[in-house]
Amino acid sequence: MKRHSRQRDAVRNALCSVKSHPTASAVYDMVRAEFPNISLATVYRNLSEMYDEGNAVMLTTVSGSVHFDADTSPHSHLYCNKCGGVTDVYPDLPDLRKAAEDKGYEVTNYSLMYSGVCENCRK
Ligand SMILES: [Zn+2]
Ligand SMILES: [Zn+2]
Repeated sequence: MKRHSRQRDAVRNALCSVKSHPTASAVYDMVRAEFPNISLATVYRNLSEMYDEGNAVMLTTVSGSVHFDADTSPHSHLYCNKCGGVTDVYPDLPDLRKAAEDKGYEVTNYSLMYSGVCENCRK
């Protein structure tokens, strides 16, 4: 039981330590150095728990890859079709928010994902 909570903490700390929006298998690679016996299923389950608790964001890209983000503040994402990288972009979109409010919504968070080619891949 103790071993499991240590694995759980390792998964949580790994996600909180990066801004790279890792997939479950990227987090798996990060924690495997310390916990060689951890399974990908355990990593995925712990990431899903963080999402269920509202402590992580789960992002599905246009290519179907699923990424996790410990930053739950309102922000949007840029997805690169070439390297698969996901980066943050912060400005709110007041016109879009207003359009949602005009539909009677109380907006509590938002998430948009642009896809394209990042600066590095364009070089
Ligand atoms: Zn790229
Ligand atoms: Zn993010």
